[in-house]
Amino acid sequence: MSSDSVRNVIIVGSGPAGLTAAIYTARANLAPLVIEGEPSSTSDQPGGQLMLTTEVENFPGFPEGVMGPDLMMNFRSQAQRFGAEFLTEKVTRVDFDSRPFRVYVRDTEYQAHSIIVSTGARSLMLGLESEQRLIGHGLSTCATCDGFFFRGHEIAVVGGGDSAIEEATFLTKFADKVTIIHRRDELRASKIMQDRAFANPKIEFLWNHTVTELLGDTKVEGIQVTSTIDGTVSTLPVTGVFVAIGHQPNTDLFKGVLDMEDSGYLITQPGSTYTNVDGVFACGDVQDHTYRQAITAAGSGCMAAIDAERWLEANVHS
Ligand code: NAP
Repeated sequence: MSSDSVRNVIIVGSGPAGLTAAIYTARANLAPLVIEGEPSSTSDQPGGQLMLTTEVENFPGFPEGVMGPDLMMNFRSQAQRFGAEFLTEKVTRVDFDSRPFRVYVRDTEYQAHSIIVSTGARSLMLGLESEQRLIGHGLSTCATCDGFFFRGHEIAVVGGGDSAIEEATFLTKFADKVTIIHRRDELRASKIMQDRAFANPKIEFLWNHTVTELLGDTKVEGIQVTSTIDGTVSTLPVTGVFVAIGHQPNTDLFKGVLDMEDSGYLITQPGSTYTNVDGVFACGDVQDHTYRQAITAAGSGCMAAIDAERWLEANVHS
């Protein structure tokens, strides 16, 4: 089943990158179609990762802060105002071998001359039911975003890689005490990061433990930890938990189609949003494992829109 004509651009994903690309391409009269994801999914939900946060205080232009979901609704309304069209579905397959490109939602085929991929990344989580309840209420996956809210608190960071150590070190600017909980007795993090953490008087380590429950109904009031050595269960009275056990870019759709790193992040040409397929652009966290901020994602969404607009002008509309 084919859905109407060939579009100028289809944007896959609707976090800050995709919606900024939508605003820019809509204002350039390219009538973008945004396939925004499915509300029921935690990795593909419309609006992206900011839908899982509460207050955002570092997005420029909001001196009083803004709630993550409200910010994303504003992005979306702004794109709609200029004519962006939205489809609340999940892309199930892509075909970038022939032109126009083809994007499928189950049996329905959508065609476009250019594609902007902005499917984002997701933080790996512990897999506890209580995570759904407490995310944004003491449970976080981003120290840069939420550290400020833990001034004077005793908190925990889960993980033993560079992210965990970096986040824990950053969090000591705010928290009185940060306990790094690691499932082994040896860190994966680089030596220099380890040394920094060992020398920090506010950081303590709880080795050979995993977090097996988050306590509290409406906010984190403690955590239950279990020894990986003998199964002993104990409680830590922390009011914040940062999970830093890695990220996973949402790139399953593009395996074998677009060039990606071993870790799954899409590869773009330096200083641009061009992928290895001419006419397909990538922006936001799906191609950025370094900054991972809403504002950097939005900035690269703007870049993708401008790249796509110029590419269409040179290759399709000329
Ligand atoms: P990572 O290196 O994969 O480390 C993940 C950590 O989480 C590991 O210590 C792992 O334990 C632990 N872990 C995984 N699943 C777990 C679970 N279910 N329960 C408890 N613990 C779990 O991820 P990352 O720290 O996010 O780093 C990703 C990449 O980015 C790395 O290449 C890293 O060097 C890089 N990075 C660099 C910097 C920097 O240089 N400034 C900062 C951040 C990230 P095990 O050790 O037992 O596997």
